[in-house]
Amino acid sequence: MRTEEVIEKFRATGALLEGHFVLTSGLHSTNYLQCALVLQHASEAEGFGRAIAEHFKTDGIRLVAAPAIGGIVIGHEVARALGARFIWTEREDGKMSLRRGFSVVPGEKTLVVEDVVTTGGSTLETVNSLRAAGANVIAAASIIDRSLGKADVGVRRIALATLEVPSVDPSACDACKRGEPATKPGSRKRLVSGQ
Ligand SMILES: [Zn+2]
Repeated sequence: MRTEEVIEKFRATGALLEGHFVLTSGLHSTNYLQCALVLQHASEAEGFGRAIAEHFKTDGIRLVAAPAIGGIVIGHEVARALGARFIWTEREDGKMSLRRGFSVVPGEKTLVVEDVVTTGGSTLETVNSLRAAGANVIAAASIIDRSLGKADVGVRRIALATLEVPSVDPSACDACKRGEPATKPGSRKRLVSGQ
């Protein structure tokens, strides 16, 4: 699956918005990415899962693991495409852990999957958590890489598309200077007067 094809699916489903946005961090951006909006379409999730699985079909992956919540839908689809088992990690007392009775066979060949890699932090935590449980984590993957290839998660890593989502302090925001109202995606609420 080509990068443009991935991005087009995000645009078509409203998962990639262009405009003037206030991010959770308080920074402003001209783009907003919400993977859940493309993954709500099961056929798109299935297609991304197959495209990721394509990169690992000769690796003998027996287990796919993903950090909750973002990685669950895509991780499940990758596991389905590879004929592997699927489990997820979640935070317990701030630490990424295997819960719900999930376990790992010692040396089990494992792929860690996430929807979006930004800093690689949650993928790395999941890799470490799986290794501590005895898995042989051989690679990691995501649909989108926002790190421009820079995130180092300690294993081979691939992404279906690389996408930069630049964000700036409101004081340095060009759209603010033009007086354009900013919106907080997901809330449908205008935060800056001007409507
Ligand atoms: Zn702004």
